[in-house]
Amino acid sequence: MNEFFYIDPKLDELSQKVEKEIYPIFSALEATAEHNQLKVMSAFQKNQVSENFFYGSTGYGYGDRGRDALDAIYAQIFGTEDALVRHNFVSGTHTLAAALFGMLRPGDTLLSLTGGPYDTMEEVIGLRGQGQGSLMDFGVHYEQVELLPDGMPDLPSIERAAAKPGIKIAYIQRSRGYSLRPSFSVEIVGKMAKAVKSVNPNIIVMVDNCYGEFSERLEPTQVGADICAGSLIKNPGGGIAQTGGYIAGRKDLIQLCANRLTAPGIGKEEGCSLNQSRSMYMGLFFAPTVVCSAIKTAVFAADLFETLGFECFPKWNEPRTDLIQAVKLGSPESMTAFCGGIQKGSPVDSFVVPEAWDMPGYSDKVIMAAGTFTGGSSVELSADGPLREPFAVWMQGGLTYPSGKIGVLLAAQSLIEKGLIQL
Ligand SMILES: *Cc1c(COP(=O)(O)O)cnc(C)c1O
Repeated sequence: MNEFFYIDPKLDELSQKVEKEIYPIFSALEATAEHNQLKVMSAFQKNQVSENFFYGSTGYGYGDRGRDALDAIYAQIFGTEDALVRHNFVSGTHTLAAALFGMLRPGDTLLSLTGGPYDTMEEVIGLRGQGQGSLMDFGVHYEQVELLPDGMPDLPSIERAAAKPGIKIAYIQRSRGYSLRPSFSVEIVGKMAKAVKSVNPNIIVMVDNCYGEFSERLEPTQVGADICAGSLIKNPGGGIAQTGGYIAGRKDLIQLCANRLTAPGIGKEEGCSLNQSRSMYMGLFFAPTVVCSAIKTAVFAADLFETLGFECFPKWNEPRTDLIQAVKLGSPESMTAFCGGIQKGSPVDSFVVPEAWDMPGYSDKVIMAAGTFTGGSSVELSADGPLREPFAVWMQGGLTYPSGKIGVLLAAQSLIEKGLIQL
């Protein structure tokens, strides 16, 4: 028993059993973290990172060496020709939207290979809230290939759909989002990319890489994807970047994305870094071990909550390709209790009680627990979910494993105290 937080002795005993069981998984996760740490270090060294890169520019930001070298470092890590890493991206959704608007033209078709997209992307595409400047408002067509009943991609249907004329981008969402379908490993992303290219090599394969970075040794752009994008307040920001997003991919495509973020003719040349460079560099440096801590927290949570009788996605011993751990709690009361416990296990705002609210971009009320140093950062321990069937929470993050673990234990403790589970 620890001397700082009250945990029911039976839960504490369970926790120790769980930790013994997951030990071999932890060893494998640490080996991946070591590989990725060295990958990041080598990119830093190749680009001769120096202290003066951390002092940001102002105004137009012409010739900002720190900004340009960070692009080169991301490109090396993702195995791409170029990258665009900017604090000016306000979120993951904004980054993905800039990439899509940058590359698509009226009359083009965007084809999702992984069923319906993440909630906030529905408004970007125009599946909800028409007339607000969505891709569809600009004459872009949208089609999607449904996933198979087991949640896996349907490769024959992907090939058939990609063979149709007019497909410009094949879009893959790696992480599960607010669904219980599996997240797709880099290997599976590679299979989808190959299926598309086999029928039309000109289609741009784009990956929503949110939550996936550094969870495996390879990134999607190293197995056939042309471009990928994500948020810096998730994995690659390492819990230190304060805002921003990145896009890594083919040089011609990155140029188009940069033209959308800034303006045609300006592209990557402008955009001062203010005082954000140091935290973006430092965050990237920490990212592999922070991702490892977050995945360890997820594995611990899955094993503990499965032992407590809840269905978990993925299961504790299934391979991982992102930070997300979904726990099917089955009722709004249990969701609220779980999130309350996670909040109590946070370093910041541990005393507040989370309540469901109408979050911008989401169609149902969402409950969120996040006691974070960076507002809404979900590489920090957080749990959220829309209050609708199947009443599951999606938890992720944990900057350090010990802090993630106590958060998970307090979530279970909270369910015990509300009488929602018995040991
Ligand atoms: C987080 C996430 C996004 C972007 O969300 P933001 O909250 O805008 O950063 C997009 N796709 C997936 C799969 C995500 O997990």
